Formats: sequence, structure tokens, C-alpha cells
Amino acid sequence: MITLGDIKNILYDPSRETTERLAQEASRLTRQHFGRTITLYAPLYLSNFCSSYCTYCGFHSHNRIKRFKLTAHQMRQEMSFLAEEGIENALLLTGESYQATPLSYLKEATTIAKAYFPNISLEVHPMEKAEYHELFAQGVDGISVYQETYNRQRYQHVHRSGKKADYNYRLGAPERAAQAGMRHIALGILLGLADVAEDLHNLYQHIYWMERHYPGVEYSISFPRLRPVKGEDFAYCDVNDITLVRIICLTRIHFPRVGINCSTRESPQLRNHILELGVTRMSAGSNTSVGGYTITAPDKQDPQFDIKDNRSVSEMISLLKERHFDPVLTDWRRIEVA
Ligand code: SF4
Repeated sequence: MITLGDIKNILYDPSRETTERLAQEASRLTRQHFGRTITLYAPLYLSNFCSSYCTYCGFHSHNRIKRFKLTAHQMRQEMSFLAEEGIENALLLTGESYQATPLSYLKEATTIAKAYFPNISLEVHPMEKAEYHELFAQGVDGISVYQETYNRQRYQHVHRSGKKADYNYRLGAPERAAQAGMRHIALGILLGLADVAEDLHNLYQHIYWMERHYPGVEYSISFPRLRPVKGEDFAYCDVNDITLVRIICLTRIHFPRVGINCSTRESPQLRNHILELGVTRMSAGSNTSVGGYTITAPDKQDPQFDIKDNRSVSEMISLLKERHFDPVLTDWRRIEVA
């Protein structure tokens, strides 16, 4: 098992050869276990109500943005748009409000989404095992729940109020989702919130533990990078491209079969480059505002984060084919047994 010291040595080694050596090995392992395939997905924001105050996020409860959640009719409109774009893996997201987007709302959204997408994942507030089980029975295949940082002190500093401030409850969410039968679980850290090497080491421990106790689950990992936020001291914020590449390669080397996600937070140039390394899942044609695809006018949108790669789904498919990758729109279709 890799030690914290090993991670620090690798991440902070200034030599170019280290990056090249990691890249070659990560690329080899990725091709061995995933071939030349990249799975495409898109986020769909259902609601921006949030009762938590996370200092790094535009949806936080103290921020004066226009709050709304999609009605059933609006969900169909947004989902229909994404499905017509070619998306088959949908990631449905909300802010974290147990009142505005309760279990019943998420179940309704799942029921509607089943008509459009064969594969549905949720990135919403953490829940109890029984609630995850209800969602699974309704048709949810995967859950994304990122710890953001494993440094408890830093966690409490940036998660100031609301349910997200409960570190332990969030930490236990992947296990509860696995116990409830979820097929796919995505974990992650928000790079830049705390010491990157320490967070990476703790994330690895978490995944080792999950793999040992719940080996039937398909895991994936995300490494979103924090963008500077006005008025906040994010001393660890500067995670440059080289460090991100090394993190992805190191993760592939230590977890050869785990999916690695890369969202449109990253630039087209970087996304094109890391295609060849360890990434296996990419979002495409994304919008991070509620109703952002068809309902809310661009100048009225309050995105959760700014998108750097605006390429459409068809543009991403063309790029992947040009680079001799198979774009995978879905590798999963639930069979409902009557
Ligand atoms: S990160 Fe999540 S819980 Fe925190 S403010 Fe943003 S939407 Fe709310």
C-alpha cells in the first residue's frame, strides 16, 4: 500500500522524467483494463436549493441567487434535450436541501429519467441506507458523494453550517449506498481545499476499505480542482496541471480497474491530453445551472461552477473517434423483472 511519504515524493518531485514514467505506466494499465474507451455522461441540475454553507460553492445557503427546482414538466423538457443530444448516462444533481428536494422528489425525478436514460446516477445530499435502497429500487444505478477533504479541521472550516458540516455522516454515505445495493459509487476530493498529498492518501485508504468490504461495487474517482473564491483563504489552491496529471496517473497505477472521471471544469487542452493517461469517464455538453439546457436563459443562469470545455456531445464523440477511442454512451441497461 502506498505511503503518504511515497505520494509526497512523487507529487513534488520536480523532474520531468517522473511525470513521463508515471504517464507511460498509467497509459499502459488503462489500455489493459479499459481498452480505448471513454464513457460519456452529462450532468442535469434539478435544484439549487441548499441549506448548507460551504464557502467554496456558489449554491451555498448565504448566497443570494435565484433558487428554484424543476417541476416534473421541466424535468422532461431538460431530459428530452439531453437524450436527443445523445446522452444515455445522466447524472442528476441538486444542492443539499432535505426540505426542498426530499426523497419523494428524487424518486419522482428518477421515475421520469428512466424514460430517457438507461443509466441514472445521483449527486445529492447523503442519505440513510433505507433511503438509498428506495432510490435503487426506483431505478438509480449510482451515487456520487465526495468527501471534499479528509482533513477534519479543514472540513469544519469550509463547511460552516447545515448537514454537510457533519463530517462523519458524509464519510459513511458510500458505505450506506453500497449496502443499499448501488452498482456504481463515485468518490472524490476537491483538490485545493487541504494538503493534496494527505487528501489523496486518505482517499486511497477509503477506496481500499470500500473495495475490501464491498467488492461487487464499481467505483470511480473524481478530482475536481477548486477555483479561487473571493474573500476565502485557500492556501492550498494552486494544484497545477502537472500535479493533476500525476494524481491521475498515480491513481491509475494503484487502482488499475477504478474509473477516473474528468468534468468540463477542465480546459479542452487538458482534457484532450489526459485522454491518453488514466481517465475513463468524461462529461460532455454540460451545463451546471438548474434548467440550464432549455429553461433558463444564459444571462439569467447561476451555475454551480464555470465550465471551461464547452464542446457538445457530438463534438466530443468526433474527437474521441479521431483519436481512435470508442465513445461509450452506455454499457448498462437495467432489465425490469415483472
Ligand atoms: S457544495 Fe453542495 S452542500 Fe455545499 S453549498 Fe454547494 S450545493 Fe450546497
